[in-house]
Amino acid sequence: MAKAVIAGNWKMHMTCAETREFAAAFRPLISDLPDDRQVLIAPPFTAIPTLSRHLEGTGVAIAAQNVHWDEKGAYTGMVSAAMLVEHGVTHAIVGHSEPRKYFSESDEQINLRARTAQKHGLIPILCVGESLDQRETGETERVIHRQIEQGLEAVDPTRLIVAYEPIWAIGTGKTCAADEANRICGLIRGWVGHKDVTVQYGGSVNPATIDDLMAQSDIDGVLVGGASLDPASFARIANFR
Ligand code: PGA
Repeated sequence: MAKAVIAGNWKMHMTCAETREFAAAFRPLISDLPDDRQVLIAPPFTAIPTLSRHLEGTGVAIAAQNVHWDEKGAYTGMVSAAMLVEHGVTHAIVGHSEPRKYFSESDEQINLRARTAQKHGLIPILCVGESLDQRETGETERVIHRQIEQGLEAVDPTRLIVAYEPIWAIGTGKTCAADEANRICGLIRGWVGHKDVTVQYGGSVNPATIDDLMAQSDIDGVLVGGASLDPASFARIANFR
């Protein structure tokens, strides 16, 4: 059985000083984690060295919140896969709905990011999901199918995580109903075409919803935003039953 993957996405939160405080409080709370699960945290790039140093020996892996599609070059403000690997990063989120929205990232670019990540030994966490408008007009399956098909072209499904993140559930406090999240995660598994691919749910995951989500047959983990900033909440999520 593949391990469940519990990932925190800190977004643009946490200075290095705040990261040290988080790590000191989080460490003792995850000292007895069962070994059927892997915990990841994606801090801002600037906090990666601090977080990896302060969580050394805990088994928590470090992820990046994005990765560039090119090896190097004239891309002001960007970070390459090799730069991340040098800092011990093992995973990279690609296609999160926030860069899709604010930086107009296309499925083609996201696909290149995933391929470049894999080329450097990073495991891409491809985020997909529909907006409220798309859900209400019955487009959910079509939108996600397209994101999977285009996002995963020439991507190795055996070194991949896909996160189903309905946009209307992100940061809104409205977790998707566990059975509906499970249904979409099952469809995603089928579209990826590799039954052992890790499929996560993300969108307002919190200590009150985690156990029900993790009890679902097609949900192999979670991608957690807001609740991953609080050591006690994220530790409770990591210690799901
Ligand atoms: P949230 O964010 O848990 O704060 O809804 C999830 C995400 O954007 O990955």
